[in-house]
Amino acid sequence: MSLNDLAIDVPHAAAGAAAAELRAALGDKVLLPGDAGFDAARTPWNLAVVQNPFAVAVPRSAADVVDVVRAAVLSGLRIAPQSTGHAAAALSETDLTHTVIVSLKGLRGVEVDAAAHTARVLGGSLWNDVLEAAAPHGLTAPHGSAGDVSVVGYLLSGGLSFYGRAHGLAVNTVRAVEVATADGTIVRASADEHADLFWALRGGSGAFGVVVAIEIDLLPVADIFAGMLLWDASHASEVAHAWAKWTATAPESATTALRILHLPPLPELPPFLSGRSLVVIDGAIEETDAVASALLGPLRALQPEMDTFARIPAPALVQVHMDPPEPSPSATWHAMLDELPAAAVDAFVAAADEPGLFVHELRHLGGALNRRPEGGGAIASLAGQYALHSVAMVPVPEAAPAATAAVHAGVDALAAWHTDALALTFIDAPGADRSLGFGAARSHLRQLKLEYDPANLFAAARPV
Ligand SMILES: Cc1cc2nc3c(=O)[nH]c(=O)nc-3n(C[C@H](O)[C@H](O)[C@H](O)COP(=O)(O)OP(=O)(O)OC[C@H]3O[C@@H](n4cnc5c(N)ncnc54)[C@H](O)[C@@H]3O)c2cc1C
Repeated sequence: MSLNDLAIDVPHAAAGAAAAELRAALGDKVLLPGDAGFDAARTPWNLAVVQNPFAVAVPRSAADVVDVVRAAVLSGLRIAPQSTGHAAAALSETDLTHTVIVSLKGLRGVEVDAAAHTARVLGGSLWNDVLEAAAPHGLTAPHGSAGDVSVVGYLLSGGLSFYGRAHGLAVNTVRAVEVATADGTIVRASADEHADLFWALRGGSGAFGVVVAIEIDLLPVADIFAGMLLWDASHASEVAHAWAKWTATAPESATTALRILHLPPLPELPPFLSGRSLVVIDGAIEETDAVASALLGPLRALQPEMDTFARIPAPALVQVHMDPPEPSPSATWHAMLDELPAAAVDAFVAAADEPGLFVHELRHLGGALNRRPEGGGAIASLAGQYALHSVAMVPVPEAAPAATAAVHAGVDALAAWHTDALALTFIDAPGADRSLGFGAARSHLRQLKLEYDPANLFAAARPV
């Protein structure tokens, strides 16, 4: 009998018996409520989210992951793979009472094949791990703005990087995925092996299993022209209009973002940031210094208070966006825009004054991000020209409703320009219409979910 033949009868799982079974099968590789370490293990990167799972498994090898999958199935429990909990707010829509979070923090490591320009990355590795391993070979990868996001969680939901307009969605660099599936085996999925699962994983992510390793192509980029331009927020309108105009003709080699930031007066922030409202343009331009400098000319003409654009080692690109270096509590909301006319820019700037907003951001998309490469998976391109993203901090749980209202107001202010698409990686809140993230791939993804995970064992932040 296949393990999938065992129906998962979650509501009737006998909790005490299931806990004893898990302990017997997994020993100290599972943490149950009351165990030392359980609270730390269930706390995600997004500290605004309180996760109350049945248990947290802490595998240290691929074989451990298989043991966890088998034990959970036999105990009538579900599984939620989690590497960092950056997307814990998206997962919070799912009741975890009868779910084992599989925390992949103990499964990190990267092997680079310098000649082939590829890397094999263990399932819980962070982008910082990859950048550190690839840099000595003059290689890098299409990571996002934060180095402590996991490779698997980002890639398998698409991945928007500062290399995006030139190289496309980061998921297209995936060559193979080794995944523990619902039948308690490890399957290698690639263009030549389990091709339908390979297609589904590239977008379907944790809905299809626990990824224990992933193979990716690396970019032959040792250094990059990148940085930020920063002004006081009193210049927001002028800068935002100039950036919108600039992006209309910017080449695909340039991927940039515009943000209006309201920073709290925190002693850990440098004085030029602490307690200030700012407008910032940042990103990367894959050109020679001379070409990149000439391109930036119209933006530099606005006399930024700070200009850090210069050639930097590729791993330093992860510092440019100044994402929080430590776990922090936040609420976010997101929409996609097809165009950014002057009226939309005015609405963006006005909405940034919404009380409680921390970051109000537009990322320039288009270019290769709009193009689906041959052999791509379920998500291989993104419709839309700009990703709109609002973030509010949630310093105490009581602040959550106001923070949620602020990010919704920030994004809704541009409703007239929203388009029917969402970037899956930016869906990180309950209530988002995930069908807009999966688009045309959704119905085939759901068919494959029934085939590979008929009992709905795997709970993902972005369920198919
Ligand atoms: C500060 C910050 C900056 C960000 N910057 C960017 C950016 O520049 N570009 C961008 O595109 N996105 C960005 N994101 C969004 C981020 O890429 C997504 O939320 C991503 O899904 C997080 O992955 P994770 O594994 O770190 O998080 P987790 O919450 O641990 O995982 C998210 C989901 O990924 C799946 N998953 C993770 N690991 C595994 C595994 N080993 N096996 C199976 N499934 C797995 C699961 O379904 C899980 O629910 C950012 C988020 C934050 C908070």
